[in-house]
Amino acid sequence: MDLSFTEQETALRDELREWLAANPAGERPAGDEADFAWRRDWQRRLHEGGWAGVHWPVEYGGRGASLMETAIFFEEMGRARAPLPANVLGLLLGGPTLMVWGTDEQKERHLPPILSAEEIWCQGFSEPDAGSDLASLKTRAKPDGDDWVVTGQKVWTSAAQWSKWCMLVARTDADAPKHKGLTYFLLDMEQQEVQVRPLVQITGEAEFNELFIEEARISGDSVIGGVGNGWKVALTTLMNERAGLGFFLQVRLRQLLDELMDAAAAGGALDDPRVADRLGDLYVRTEVLRLTAYRGLSVIEQYGQPGPEGSLVKWLWSETNQLLTQLAPDLVGPEALTAGTPWSYELLRARGNSIEGGTTEILKNIVAERVLGLPRAR
Ligand SMILES: Cc1cc2nc3c(=O)[nH]c(=O)nc-3n(C[C@H](O)[C@H](O)[C@H](O)COP(=O)(O)OP(=O)(O)OC[C@H]3O[C@@H](n4cnc5c(N)ncnc54)[C@H](O)[C@@H]3O)c2cc1C
Repeated sequence: MDLSFTEQETALRDELREWLAANPAGERPAGDEADFAWRRDWQRRLHEGGWAGVHWPVEYGGRGASLMETAIFFEEMGRARAPLPANVLGLLLGGPTLMVWGTDEQKERHLPPILSAEEIWCQGFSEPDAGSDLASLKTRAKPDGDDWVVTGQKVWTSAAQWSKWCMLVARTDADAPKHKGLTYFLLDMEQQEVQVRPLVQITGEAEFNELFIEEARISGDSVIGGVGNGWKVALTTLMNERAGLGFFLQVRLRQLLDELMDAAAAGGALDDPRVADRLGDLYVRTEVLRLTAYRGLSVIEQYGQPGPEGSLVKWLWSETNQLLTQLAPDLVGPEALTAGTPWSYELLRARGNSIEGGTTEILKNIVAERVLGLPRAR
């Protein structure tokens, strides 16, 4: 893969740098509500500037950027220390899933408010007894005239408290084999029959929630990809999750590493060969991650959709981020273990990295079976 920029790519980078210099995201405010409002406003500004769906095709309101241009976009966002937009799940997971499986009416109805952050999306996949083994989920949907009535419980649903729409996978045929009896719906969250209870994490934030769904209604035109086809549609969402987010996250990782190296230099720790060795290891891992993320982009370029390689990026990222944030207290000092500081936040938040978006064990299985072609575990 050629990683040097063309004239057009350099022009896009310069235009974006100029825009970011004129439109800084500003300081992250304290508190969940204020933080979300800030990220929503940030996405609105990106949208007004034509930068919200940079990787989306022009016909869907995006910029139609090539994969290399998309990579440049994420790198520049990282460099400017811009936050993830509020509707990250809609932009990176929901929109691309609709583009593959949605009808023209669904795309027309849903894609514009995803881009503008007018309607926030969440992902209702996990349940108390169905996480890694998603296909064993129990939430069920029954037909009722043209509509569906859904009952069940979801858990760890990020951003559900702000969401208008939930990408919901439910069982529609209890007699079919477990992967076959599933359907992918868009659930309207604004109804009494859907109760959202925030779950407070180790960081003190309530990023995710429990969903209690009791006979909620879903209109017949909110089935995505056909009744009984939910497993395949869900896989499209998961592949996009690992590939799309991975690119943004590796940029953020590099920033954190730069900050850690600055802290080490300021404290005179770089002269200690043990410190230099650990930082060198993190540097190599981060660089390998960056190149692997680029390789993932070239797979999308070839096949039109992300492949299982995204699992490798997500696994390497979570492991490296955990190593890095665990090293920080040694170099930054007690401040990095004091509640409320940026380093302690990073340290605590990193614990969930090897669980969210697929646990490391599951990603290793995918890499072994689908990238390396090793025999299946079961
Ligand atoms: C910060 C965060 C945000 C999240 N946001 C969302 C969200 O928005 N929407 C959503 O639907 N979910 C979300 N999740 C849930 C996440 O997808 C699940 O936690 C994850 O899929 C694991 O499922 P589980 O927690 O049920 O663990 P389990 O599946 O019960 O796994 C328990 C342990 O067993 C291991 N294990 C399980 N099966 C195997 C196997 N076959 N081989 C080897 N080891 C195995 C796992 O690796 C893990 O260590 C979020 C999680 C976190 C931490």
